Amino acid sequence: MKPLSKKLIAMLLVLVMTLSLTGMALAEEPAKEAKYVFFFIGDGMGSPQITATRYFLGTLANPDSPFPVPAELSFTTFKSGGLMTTYDSTSFCPDSASTASSMASGEKTLSGVINYDVNKERQFKPVTEYAKEAGKKVGILTSVSLDHATPAAFYAKVPSRSSYYDIAVQGMSGTTLDLIGGGGFRYPTGREKDQKDVFEIAKENGFTFLNDNESIRGLKPEDGERILMIAPDLAGSDAMQYEVDRLRIVEEGGDSLSLADFTKSAINYLDNEEGFFLMVEGGKLDWACHANDAVTTMYETIALSDAVQVAVDFAQEHPDETLIVVTGDHETGGLTIGFATTWYNTYFGYLDNQNISYEDFDKRVTKMREEGLSFEDAMAIVKESYGLTLEEGQDLTLTATETATLKDAYTMSMLPKAQRVIGEKESFMYGGYEPLTVTCAHILNNKSGLAYTSYAHTGLQIPVYAQGVGAENFLGFFDNTDIFFSMMSAMGLIPADSVAAK
Ligand SMILES: [Zn+2]
Repeated sequence: MKPLSKKLIAMLLVLVMTLSLTGMALAEEPAKEAKYVFFFIGDGMGSPQITATRYFLGTLANPDSPFPVPAELSFTTFKSGGLMTTYDSTSFCPDSASTASSMASGEKTLSGVINYDVNKERQFKPVTEYAKEAGKKVGILTSVSLDHATPAAFYAKVPSRSSYYDIAVQGMSGTTLDLIGGGGFRYPTGREKDQKDVFEIAKENGFTFLNDNESIRGLKPEDGERILMIAPDLAGSDAMQYEVDRLRIVEEGGDSLSLADFTKSAINYLDNEEGFFLMVEGGKLDWACHANDAVTTMYETIALSDAVQVAVDFAQEHPDETLIVVTGDHETGGLTIGFATTWYNTYFGYLDNQNISYEDFDKRVTKMREEGLSFEDAMAIVKESYGLTLEEGQDLTLTATETATLKDAYTMSMLPKAQRVIGEKESFMYGGYEPLTVTCAHILNNKSGLAYTSYAHTGLQIPVYAQGVGAENFLGFFDNTDIFFSMMSAMGLIPADSVAAK
C-alpha cells in the first residue's frame, strides 16, 4: 500500500481537529435557560373569557364594521401554547387551591388543599422554592388578598385554604418571598384573639411595608430587603378595586393602582443578575364570573392583559432569557358566546353600557332599599349603570318578560336580607347574589349574546399561552401538573426530557 503523503496526512489532521472542535463547541454551548420567568394566572379565565374580551374590544374599536373584527390581547399573539386539563382529586370542576398547587408543584390534590397531598400529610415543594434555591428572586402579585388560595400555593403549605392567618404567617416568616403585593390580608391578627399581627411578623422578617400609590409606583431595589406592598384603596374582601370601577375612579379624577402598575414596580425591584420568578394573578376575574357579571369579567381580563404587556415589554429588552406563561386555573361560570334568543347574532356593543361592577352596584341597591325607591325610580339607576330601560324603541329596551323578571328581582332586593325566602327558583335565578344586580347582568349579557350556566367553577380545558425561552414546553395538550415541570425545565432546574408537552 502506498504510504499517505505527509501533505495529505496534515490535511486530514486539520479536518479531524476542525470537526472535533466544532463538535465540542456545539456540545459546550449552554442550553438557553429562562433567567426571568413570568407566570400569569387569570383566576377563572378559560377560553370563553378570553374570546369574549377579544370580541368586546374588537366591537368597540370597529363599531361600524359589517363583519366581526376580534381584537388581540397582549398574550393572544404568543406563538406557543396549548390546552390543559384542570381536574383535581376531588372533582372535574376543581377549585383554586388544588389547581394552583398542581401548577405550582406538579401534583394533584383535593379541592381546598394547598401544597399537601390527598392525605393531608406530605407537603409539596413549589417551583418558587426551587427558583429561590437557584438564586433567583421571587415575587407574587395578586388583585385579591395576598393570603388567597392562588397566591398561597406559591409560598405556603396548608391542609385548608381557609387558614388565611396561617398562610399569611408562612409567607411573612418564610424565606421564599422577596416581594409580595396587591391586595391585603384577610385576618392579619387571626380569627381568634391574641394572635400576633402579620404586619409585625413581616417587619421582624425584613419586609418593608408600602401602602401608598407614590411609593409603590416608585419602588426601587434599595427601598428594602424585602417588600410587602398593598393597594391603599382596597375594595371588599381586602382585594384591589375591580378594573371597571378603577377606570371610573380614574375618570372621575381619582388615582388607583392597576395590576400593571404593580407588575412594573415588581420588575424594577426584582431585576438582578440571577433573575427572578414572578407570579401575577388576576384573581377577581373569578369573582366576577361567580357573580355572572360579564362586563366586569372582561375588564378584569383586560387588566391582566395590561399586566402581561409590561412583561412583554421587559422581554423585548431580554429576549434570550425571558419566559412568559399566561393561563387560567379553571373556568368559572360556564360562560359562553351565543344565547337562545340571539341565535347566530351577538351585540357586544351593548356591553359598553355597563360601567360598574356588581360589587359597587350592590351598594346602590342597598341605598335603594334604605330609601324605599319605587321600581320606576330604581330603573333610572339601572339605566345609568347597565343601559337597560323601560323606554320604548331603545337598543336595551326591556321586553315584557325581562321587565317581569327584573321586577321580581327588584321586589326581592327591596326586602331586608333576613326576610327573603330563598327556594329552588331563587337559588337558580340569583345564585346567592343580590337579586336586582345579578338579574341586570343576566339580561344585559343575554341581550348581547352571552350567557353563564353556573355560579361556580366548571370543568373546561384551559388555554395556555407561552412566549420566550422554553415556550416550546407548553405546546400541545397536557395536564395542569405539567406546568410545573415545563417551568422547571425552562429554568434549567430539571432535564428537558422530563417535560410532557413537546
Ligand atoms: Zn380559581
